[in-house]
Amino acid sequence: MDSLTEYKRKRPPGQSPEPRGGRATKGKNSFVVQRHDATRLHYDLRLELDGVLKSWAVPKGPSLNPADKRLAVQTEDHPLDYGGFEGTIPEGNYGAGEVILWDKGTYSLEGKASGKEQLERGEIKFVLNGHKLRGSFVLVKLRNNKYANSFSKSEWLLIKHRD
Ligand code: MN
Repeated sequence: MDSLTEYKRKRPPGQSPEPRGGRATKGKNSFVVQRHDATRLHYDLRLELDGVLKSWAVPKGPSLNPADKRLAVQTEDHPLDYGGFEGTIPEGNYGAGEVILWDKGTYSLEGKASGKEQLERGEIKFVLNGHKLRGSFVLVKLRNNKYANSFSKSEWLLIKHRD
């Protein structure tokens, strides 16, 4: 199944200024964090992987303090061109509110396993090379969480490594 199916289903054409998700262009391991002032303010961390942006909503935002473990709820894959999106999603639409680019850059995976393999294992390690976020991070999936039976949502922790 096209991993953008859920993204498109939540965003009917002609109602939101968000990208429709065109053809995926060859990637460069980009990452982006968007500050999303929706019903609840959160920060969306997105990592480019296999032609889409793997996405997590981080309510408190990423932290550079290794002592912080930030809840990160995985959300539906987003199209690559979403990484450049800033704007206001109108009332009545999914995720209504203002989106601004908070940080962007590139990342590199750590370890020998592919990103897909690391995601499936529930632990993905990567080094961010952004403006605000730099250094080694890990996303660890929580085994028991309230979204366990949901189609795409799952709870992870975003933790900065000491480096
Ligand atoms: Mn969001």
